[in-house]
Amino acid sequence: MQTDLEIQFLPGVGPRRARLLKEELGLVSPSDLIRFYPFRYVDRSSITPIASITSDVAYVQFRGRVITRQLMTATGPLPQDGQPIRFNTVKRLIVVVTDGGGQMELVFFKAIKWMYEKMTVGSEFLFFGKPQSFNGKINFVHPEVDNLTRDNFEGVGVLTGVYPSTEKLRNAGLTDKVMQKIMAAALQTALPSVKETLPAYVLKEKGLCDLRFALKNIHFPKDAYSLEKARYRLKFEELFLLQLSLLKARYHRSRAENGIVMPSVGAAFNRCYEHLPFGLTGAQKRVIKEIREDMRSGRQMNRLLQGDVGSGKTMVAVLTALIAAGNGYQACIMAPTEVLARQHYRNIQKYLAPTGLKSAILTGSSKAAERREVDEGLRNGEISLIVGTHALLEEPVVFKNLGLAIIDEQHRFGVEQRSRLWSKTTDGRPPHVLVMTATPIPRTLAMTFYGDLDTSVIDEMPPGRKPVDTRSAGESKRLALYNFMASQIEKGRQVFVVYPLIFESEKMDYKNLELGYEDIVKAFPFPKYKTAIVHGKQSSADKDFNMSAFVEGRAQILVATSVIEVGVDVPNASVRVSESAERVGLSQLHQLRGRVGRGSEKSYCILMTGDKLSKESRRRIELMCATENGFELAEEDLKMRGPGDLEGTQQSGLPISLSIASLAKDGMILSDARNYASTVLEKDPSLSSPENECLKNELRKSKYQSKDYSKIS
Ligand code: ADP
Ligand code: MG
Repeated sequence: MQTDLEIQFLPGVGPRRARLLKEELGLVSPSDLIRFYPFRYVDRSSITPIASITSDVAYVQFRGRVITRQLMTATGPLPQDGQPIRFNTVKRLIVVVTDGGGQMELVFFKAIKWMYEKMTVGSEFLFFGKPQSFNGKINFVHPEVDNLTRDNFEGVGVLTGVYPSTEKLRNAGLTDKVMQKIMAAALQTALPSVKETLPAYVLKEKGLCDLRFALKNIHFPKDAYSLEKARYRLKFEELFLLQLSLLKARYHRSRAENGIVMPSVGAAFNRCYEHLPFGLTGAQKRVIKEIREDMRSGRQMNRLLQGDVGSGKTMVAVLTALIAAGNGYQACIMAPTEVLARQHYRNIQKYLAPTGLKSAILTGSSKAAERREVDEGLRNGEISLIVGTHALLEEPVVFKNLGLAIIDEQHRFGVEQRSRLWSKTTDGRPPHVLVMTATPIPRTLAMTFYGDLDTSVIDEMPPGRKPVDTRSAGESKRLALYNFMASQIEKGRQVFVVYPLIFESEKMDYKNLELGYEDIVKAFPFPKYKTAIVHGKQSSADKDFNMSAFVEGRAQILVATSVIEVGVDVPNASVRVSESAERVGLSQLHQLRGRVGRGSEKSYCILMTGDKLSKESRRRIELMCATENGFELAEEDLKMRGPGDLEGTQQSGLPISLSIASLAKDGMILSDARNYASTVLEKDPSLSSPENECLKNELRKSKYQSKDYSKIS
């Protein structure tokens, strides 16, 4: 007997289904089961007249008396001639029922004999199912059938839960109805020993129902009101415990006195500052002040810096690195791609020139000799500032005294990669960390993904930036697009053409990129025009060659994938064309749009889409044309596609997976839970009072203890 498959002893389960439930859903014990919630409820309290059933309702319940039952073989109806029926030749059973006002056809492919015998002409049942439209007629395939005297098993109310399932589970007979039966048994077994997870004062202050009531009613709601109470309580619990764990980590970090102290801004900072060709914006000044406070506080800085593309984050990064250098520490800046690393490196050297500090670059394509030299310089401290890609994280690199790590476009670095930085320091003290992102992150997500980081926002653009004229066009307007591009090139401008590159459709996407490139070269022939192409499958030499052709103005057009090219600076590029824009998240489109409009000329963003768009896509594209507010667009993405899909978050992953609350829909509860968690921690930072003991126990559970996750803090 396998003790870890306790649920096999519940009625309706057994060893085979128990194994499947474990494999498919990770459910092992009755206590797991009762924390596995319905994702939907159906209202079985009302009976719909057959005449009013249409194919666009989800599930309906109706009453019907059998008028005819017909067995069908492969060749047609089976004659009902009193001969014994050979069921093995029967393919399906068609039953027609009536409720007096209308008729409905029901089709069964399985359990035909049993169903046939049950569906005697004149007998009456309750049916429940999803109407389908077949040959212009509505029918029901395998509706649930109940006797009119309902065989109510214990606990079933009028709202019935529907559980997430898989094909394997359904094939093993774990239908909704069976799941409900199992759940009823699980509740009976596990509910008595369920311990309240929230202190009594929390329930009282927040007006929450107790856990047992919640669990009972989330599965078998007494009525709509009880379901709502239950759902609210469970969502609050989930978000509250999550925020509590995040804030607790942050609190303890902020108390730990192991941060590297950098008391002054230092000479390098001042010298660079004096030589800046422009004054800092108010937002840049404010953010630098926040960073400075962190760095001299004696605590480790963990700060997220958000700001639209072009808002001047790189400038802030450089000045931050100079504070570290001025205090005798090394700094590194990590970029997600080689092209970006090189661009940073070029820009940074300009700013570094007056300081006399030594900087270097390390990427995947650095030559062995170069690499050795850099390794050496980092080890002996000669190099103050290193720029690179994740090659920096590779084994041999060791710093003399890394005091600051700046991570640009953070979403392309996984949590695990970030934590590897820690092992790079020799004295074991964690470097200050500044994470920079141009992806606006909706508040609810930031609270959760970066819940333990402090946040700074650059909400002001350097002077002189003009709004980007954003328009959309269908495929049939391509000729007009090319004419427009030609007229801009005529004026001496350059054009970005960006193709989406989505992991799931990578092969097709590369093909589209190739075809698009060929098309453009045909429309803009050499030698009058030069078109560069950059994508991830090129060698870095090819990439560099093409990229610099565009950056240096030798090519007028750059065709690229979004990933490669994001973040590259070309002030003269005044037109951006986003191909297949309807397939790309709005946040990402917005980020790409930020790459134009950096020069003094009027600039354009053209969203190319298919000619036929769904209503939803049309609305999104219109919103994109109408607003330049990145946060608004990010909220829209979140609503549409959920957090998992939001550009900028796929790879960092949620610290824990949510089982009932939704970051997209429960923003209000989340904010409330976070504020409340913070109040609770203020009074009892280590949750050591007896009344908070249950919270402490919850936070000890493994899902709040992920190793990588705790290392972010
Ligand atoms: P981000 O990294 O946020 O995309 P950058 O730091 O690359 O933005 O800045 C974008 C451009 O604006 C750069 O060319 C930079 O030199 C310029 N810039 C940055 N800060 C200022 C400022 N305060 N005033 C004028 N130009 C600025
Ligand atoms: Mg940048």
